[in-house]
Amino acid sequence: MAIATINPATGETLKTFEALNDEEIVAKLDLANRTFEQYRQTSFSERSHWLQKAADILEQDKAEFAKLMTLEMGKPFKAAIAEVEKCAVVCRYYAEHAPGFLADVSIKTDANQSFVRYQPMGAILAVMPWNFPFWQVFRFAAPALMAGNVGLLKHASNVPQCALAIEDIIRRAGFPEGAFQTLLIGAAKVADLMADDRVKAATLTGSEPAGASLAVAAGKQIKKTVLELGGSDPFIVLESADLETAVVTATTARMLNNGQSCIAAKRFIVAEAIADKFEKLLLEKFEALKVGDPMQPDTDLGPLATPGILQDLDQQVQGAISSGGKVIIGGHPLSDRPGNFYPPTIIIDIPTDTPIAKEEFFGPVALLFRVPDIDAAIKLANNSPFGLGASAWTTNNQESDRLVEEIEAGAVFINSMVKSDPRLPFGGIKRSGYGRELSIQGIHEFVNVKTVWVK
Ligand code: NAP
Repeated sequence: MAIATINPATGETLKTFEALNDEEIVAKLDLANRTFEQYRQTSFSERSHWLQKAADILEQDKAEFAKLMTLEMGKPFKAAIAEVEKCAVVCRYYAEHAPGFLADVSIKTDANQSFVRYQPMGAILAVMPWNFPFWQVFRFAAPALMAGNVGLLKHASNVPQCALAIEDIIRRAGFPEGAFQTLLIGAAKVADLMADDRVKAATLTGSEPAGASLAVAAGKQIKKTVLELGGSDPFIVLESADLETAVVTATTARMLNNGQSCIAAKRFIVAEAIADKFEKLLLEKFEALKVGDPMQPDTDLGPLATPGILQDLDQQVQGAISSGGKVIIGGHPLSDRPGNFYPPTIIIDIPTDTPIAKEEFFGPVALLFRVPDIDAAIKLANNSPFGLGASAWTTNNQESDRLVEEIEAGAVFINSMVKSDPRLPFGGIKRSGYGRELSIQGIHEFVNVKTVWVK
């Protein structure tokens, strides 16, 4: 894939970039390693100060950064602004809490003194997706830098200007040269990086094939990885739910980021008793969404990020129809305009055992299933190769307890949509990946947990 900015709302190529050659990559790896030897000696208060400064820059120039995101991958500008603000929050969160998360932990044993010390590992490679081009990177970079690691970013090839802007923010914030570098490279170079001694571990957010290929390359070298992969999150609505709020939230949870979020609600599993009403209200909400130029403040749904994503999504929709599904709104790309626009789409009556019912639909397409009761709802929710998040709606405490206990996912949100929050761990099980980002768990992923025993 070429490294380029191509406006998804118009199809226009705005800027292309040369990938780094092998010598340039080696120079960056050398710099990362040299910087690490000094950077690891810096104090928490220095790192906190730089990270707070990065938050200041993000807040001051948020419109500029948001515009870049919208231009490169098409998310509505207002959502891009919110994303930049959230990056500032995660920087401030780790600037404040990392010293506590990484303090020595004393453990009573028969030694004179025994404790756990957390130490940085070195250069960590982050292979990142385009869908949240700033947030995905900052949620890796903030804890990694506070822990004393240095970062190497291989961003998605369609967001190179975002990738360079992030490197620049971290440099301007005062972090030493080389503490965080963007590598403009294609995916084919990732395996070589994993084989390089200067790269100590890696995190990847993206698709299953990308995750699997990174894990193979890392496994050969016995290097640690964190994988945040796809999801097909269920959104379960039971009979006692507050239906109005559930429908409004369902619409937001499906349409977030033009439908291209790993934790978007994708499979709507609704109790038969309220299913007619839910379907009617959801249809009304989808009909009311404004599709168009993502730069406009009243746009709800912008274009998909690339023509390839549009094509894949449409193929899945046609596959769902041939498997027995019925489209009640949308169902075809919008051919009346340039760009990668797909309309809000609802598909009902897909047989639950067809392979397509288990796939991740990465766009504004809701699959609506009806179930007789909570047992069937949980069974269907778990009938998925993925296990990222789940949202479930009920006002019955016993039902709520069962949903929390029995749903196979990295997160269950009751009467709320699934979202990430720096204070809470984020990650999946099953084919959604392993490891956790954010919170105390996130910062402990890329450290050496050193046991110390003093007799
Ligand atoms: P993708 O194609 O896997 O791309 C993600 C990143 O991986 C890009 O930087 C890409 O580089 C790179 N990559 C692709 N193939 C690779 C390979 N074989 N080896 C190493 N790196 C490789 O994913 P996407 O289509 O951009 O993103 C959508 C997917 O990400 C969805 O499944 C979504 O659910 C998931 N996602 C998960 C989370 C989470 O936290 N769990 C968050 C956001 C997105 P190039 O761009 O150069 O190909």
